[in-house]
Amino acid sequence: MTEAPIRFRASCTECRATTELDVEAFRLTVGRSRERTFYTFTCPDCGTTVRRTAGERIVEALTGAGVRTMRLHLGEQPPAVP
Ligand SMILES: [Zn+2]
Repeated sequence: MTEAPIRFRASCTECRATTELDVEAFRLTVGRSRERTFYTFTCPDCGTTVRRTAGERIVEALTGAGVRTMRLHLGEQPPAVP
């Protein structure tokens, strides 16, 4: 078996470039809800920090690859109810 470095394709929301980045380039933030679960990376083309929501499959793929993960479950405030 060959141990190729794991890379992920990501597309920039600013310049729309699609790039392949190492797992170190990604940060994953896992919140309580799907809207609060996202990954970020810095676009090598335009330098924008891109934030994209991450579905279950993406979360699994990123964590499985060793992407740094921050979990926001603790201390998260529930939405205010009027
Ligand atoms: Zn870009």
